[in-house]
Amino acid sequence: MMNTQLTLASMIKHTEKYFPKKEVISRTLAGVQTFTYEETIQRMKRLGHALESLGIKKGDKVGTFAWNHHRHLEAYFAVPSMGAILHTINIRLASEDLVYIINHAEDKVILVDEDLLPLIERVEDQLEHVEAYIVMTDRENLPETSLSSVYSYESLLERANAEYEFTTELNEQDPAGICYTSGTTGKPKGVVYTHRGIYLHSMALGMTDTVGLSEMDTTMPVVPMFHVNAWGMPFAATWFGAKQVLPGPMPTPQVLAQLIDEYKVTTTAGVPTIWLGLLKELESGNYSMKSLRNILCGGSAAPKGMIKTFETKYNIPFLHAYGMTETSPLVTVSRLKSYQLNMDEEDRLELRSKQGMVVPGIEVRVINENGDIARDGEDMGELIIRGPWIANQYYKDDRSGDAFHDGWLHTGDVVTLDEEGTIKIVDRTKDLIKSGGEWISSVDLENALMAHEDVFEAAVVAIPDPKWQERPVACVVCKENKELTKEDILQFLQPQFAKFWLPDEVIFMKEIPKTSVGKFLKKALRDQVKETLSI
Ligand code: ADP
Repeated sequence: MMNTQLTLASMIKHTEKYFPKKEVISRTLAGVQTFTYEETIQRMKRLGHALESLGIKKGDKVGTFAWNHHRHLEAYFAVPSMGAILHTINIRLASEDLVYIINHAEDKVILVDEDLLPLIERVEDQLEHVEAYIVMTDRENLPETSLSSVYSYESLLERANAEYEFTTELNEQDPAGICYTSGTTGKPKGVVYTHRGIYLHSMALGMTDTVGLSEMDTTMPVVPMFHVNAWGMPFAATWFGAKQVLPGPMPTPQVLAQLIDEYKVTTTAGVPTIWLGLLKELESGNYSMKSLRNILCGGSAAPKGMIKTFETKYNIPFLHAYGMTETSPLVTVSRLKSYQLNMDEEDRLELRSKQGMVVPGIEVRVINENGDIARDGEDMGELIIRGPWIANQYYKDDRSGDAFHDGWLHTGDVVTLDEEGTIKIVDRTKDLIKSGGEWISSVDLENALMAHEDVFEAAVVAIPDPKWQERPVACVVCKENKELTKEDILQFLQPQFAKFWLPDEVIFMKEIPKTSVGKFLKKALRDQVKETLSI
């Protein structure tokens, strides 16, 4: 067979030829704008040329510090297609981590949104390699800024050549992008994505039994474009010629509901907290969600109660998936097999709230001290993964060996496996609760709590215990105007769990602390719990 190179440049060549009329709808500070792919690809070429004129060469890193919008999408393809490496920077990082990753990646140019400029201004004097900043503004004139070497995105594009051709010298193994994990423990770790990895991952997103992305779709990634490439959705959607809606700055539940309704979004993606917020917004009854053919949800466990509400009340199929920054991210998707469709409703829901089955192309094993675990849904072990879109190391990081060894990525996620191959995440190794020598899954307790009709969100953490080593404590946020007591919670949990699983304490809170990408921040929560209980 021919050995053609699987590159991002070849993906947009396809889009340019076959889908020039399809549209990208982008919400920015200036309002909602629409671009055809023909215009979008011309703008990508201009951006490629502009970066080249600024001295960017093959292998240089170009950072983006931006929301989900058309200019960010342009950078997604333009930067790797001209041979440089796209570093998507998390806009919610603490200044210290921000400085660390920009210096560690050695970013030469940073593309930054106008409203996010102050966050970069604050750290500019500590950035060691940045030679220029390009402000992704709608206005011709640049805003007032203390940054030096500042360019306007639109002015650069205007001056650049739309006839510019992307380099044909790319090898599929060349790096295309780099993304850092959000770093809940220690400094963030960098993961490099190759052209080949992104290409194959995009194909996987198109498979009917995974996410089934197609030209027929209108996609809206809510997951930020700085978080694992918005789960690869913008790459695949552009390649397949799907219409895209990019929700822009501060995508509140109201904004999301309006965009889905107005632009007839068919598939959208985000972490569970986003969908809990959307559910609340939908209670107003002001929006139609009829166009949605599915909601893709991952990043942390999707509570069963939430899946049920979306499906029964709003008739929106829910697609629960699992992955990591290190895995591009798609690893498993929870779908029923043909012969599981006639199971009873509760069993089906139970199965679908698990993380699901590994997608074709990726290999998984679950191991513990006895080797591979039994496929009985009970035995627990660590999930390990390998495949063509799984990283094999961290970028310039001597911690690589902890996660990558023997040819596998060791995820630190503790899971069970049933005879059908369905994976269920029990916990992260560091969040499992060990009480009297027995394991308690914080995820199972959280799922149960969030199925209570008056609970908005809930998280469970361990506190040290002199007798049992560790005991669970539940932190609960009630829905607006609802009140619950510790007794209500324990009574609700009692029929569902062994007695030793029941939390010792229930703490009611206004909000659960979250990471920069909306996951429960267990570390901060543990500190808060210790303070509340004076331990
Ligand atoms: P970080 O490690 O910084 O949180 P990632 O987005 O890479 O950033 O997180 C990956 C982790 O998120 C996984 O190792 C797993 O613990 C968790 N995760 C991802 N998807 C799911 C899911 N569907 N259910 C439960 N946990 C999940």
